[in-house]
Amino acid sequence: PAAAVTHAAVQETLQLFRETCERLLREEPDPGPGKRNRVDFKAAKILKNRWLNTGERAVGTVPGVEVGDVFRYRIELCMVGIHRRVMAGIDFKRLSNGDVLATCIVSSGYYDDKDVGKGGCDDDVLIYCGEGGDPKNPCGNRVAADQKLKGANLALKRSMERKLPVRVVRGFRTTSQDRVISTYTYDGLYLVEKHWEVRGDNGYRVFKFQLRRIPGQPALSEVKRSRLEQAPIQYRCVDPDVSSGTERHPIRVMNAVNTTRPIGFSYTSRLRYPSWYNPSPPAGCGCIGGCAESSACACAAKNGGSFAYGVDGRLLETRPLVYECGPSCGCPPSCRNRASQSGVKVQLQVFNAGSRGWGVRSPNRIAAGAFVCEYVGEVITEREAGKRSNDEYLFDVGRNYGGGEACEDDSCFTIDAAEYGNVGRFINHSCSPNLYAQNVLFDHDDRRVPHVMLFALADIAAYEELAYDYNYRVDGVRDEDGELRRKYCYCGTFRCSGRMY
Ligand code: SAM
Repeated sequence: PAAAVTHAAVQETLQLFRETCERLLREEPDPGPGKRNRVDFKAAKILKNRWLNTGERAVGTVPGVEVGDVFRYRIELCMVGIHRRVMAGIDFKRLSNGDVLATCIVSSGYYDDKDVGKGGCDDDVLIYCGEGGDPKNPCGNRVAADQKLKGANLALKRSMERKLPVRVVRGFRTTSQDRVISTYTYDGLYLVEKHWEVRGDNGYRVFKFQLRRIPGQPALSEVKRSRLEQAPIQYRCVDPDVSSGTERHPIRVMNAVNTTRPIGFSYTSRLRYPSWYNPSPPAGCGCIGGCAESSACACAAKNGGSFAYGVDGRLLETRPLVYECGPSCGCPPSCRNRASQSGVKVQLQVFNAGSRGWGVRSPNRIAAGAFVCEYVGEVITEREAGKRSNDEYLFDVGRNYGGGEACEDDSCFTIDAAEYGNVGRFINHSCSPNLYAQNVLFDHDDRRVPHVMLFALADIAAYEELAYDYNYRVDGVRDEDGELRRKYCYCGTFRCSGRMY
C-alpha cells in the first residue's frame, strides 16, 4: 500500500498550488472590471498529479490534514482530499450497498445566522442547513423548491444514525483593500446530533442539521482567526552555505519539512578532468578591451559570425554549441562573450522539493537568457559511467548537438556529480523546463567534452523551482541486461508525461 500522506506533503502541494496561482496571475492579462480570472481552477488542473488523498473518500480524519490548517482557495480542499465537491457544501460518499455517508461540510457561516448568533455558529455547535431548493441560497427565504431527503441531506442523516464523524471546514470572509477574501480553516470532527425541518419564508421545506464538535481535539480558539494570516509554509535555513564559501554568493539550504541537509558529496565549482586528459587551449581572438564588433572577432566567427550573448551577457538564443572567448584571447573577463565561464552570479538556494528530493530556486527573479550555473562534476568516460553504482547525477555530454554527435561510443564522456559537484547537481528535471543546458567551449576545443551551462529559458519568478529537461526518452533507458527501466516524474507541470524514462 502507498505510504500515508504527511502534513508536509499537504503543505507542499498547497505551496506549489499558490505559487502557480501567483505565476498565472502575473502572466495572464487582467480580464477586466467585474470579471475574475479563475487561476485557482487553472492551477489546480495544472497540478492534477499533485492532488493528495485521491482514493476512496475518507470518513473521519484525512491523512496529512490537521485541525487549524488554513486553506486560501476553496479548490485547495479538493486538492488535499478533505472536501471533494468543488462548489457544494456537503461532501458525501456512496457505499457499495447504495447507502450514503457524509464526509465533510464547508460552513461559510453566513447562511445560518438566524439560528445561532452571528456567523451561524458558536464554538462547538454548528447548525447547518440542507442542500437543494435554490442552489444559490438554500437557507434563505428565496428557496423555490422543497429540499429532499436524498444525496447529501440523507448522508448527514445516515452519519447521525451511525454516529460517524463528519469533518467541518469553516469559511471566513474578510475584506482587504476592497477585495473580499475567503479563507477556510479545518475545524476538526463533529457528530450530527439532530436534524429537523423548517418551512422557509416561501413555504418550502428546508432541512437543518445540528452538529457538535467531538471533544479532545485542539481548542478552536487556538486555531481560529489568528491562524488565518499565517504564512502557508515556513522554510528554515538548515545550512548557511552548501558551497562552504566556494561560490560568490552563499547557497543556503532551506527545509520546510525537517532539519536534514544534503550530505555525501564534496562541493567543487570546477570540472574535475581525469589526469590523462590534457586538451590544449584554443587559439584566441585579438580583440583589445572587449569583443564589441562581431565582424572583427575570431571567436564570433567560430559562432557563425555573431555573438550568442547580448551586451548584458544574456543568451540571445539557444545553439548547438557556443564558443566563448578563452585564456588566449586578448579581451578582459568582463567581455560579453564570457558570460558563463566565471561562475554563478545569481543567488541560489537548495531546498527540500518533496517527492523530487532536493531542488534549486532563487530568492530573486531571474531574467530570460541569464546564466544560472554550470553542471559541474567529475569528467569520466561513458564506459566508466556505466560502472558507477549511483547513476542519479550522470550527465552525458558531447551527444547533444541537435543531430550530429561529437563522439562515438568509446570516446564519449559523462559528467558525474555524485561525489564531486556544485549546485547544478541539485537541479531537477521538468517536462516544462525553465532552464536550458547549453553546450559551451572556452578553455579547450574538444567538442566531446563541452561545458554544460544552464541558462534561463524565460523570466523566472523568485522562488520558482529551476529545472531543465533531462532529455531522456520514455522507454529509452535499459539496464545492462537490456531490461527497460522506468523512472516516474513528479515535476507537476501540465505537460508532464508522468515518466522521466
Ligand atoms: N533531487 C536531486 C537530489 O535530491 O539530489 C537533485 C537532482 S539529481 C541530478 C537527479 C535525481 O533527482 C533523479 O535521479 C531523481 O531521483 C530526482 N529527480 C529529478 N527530477 C525529478 C522529477 N521531475 N521527478 C522525480 N524525481 C526527480
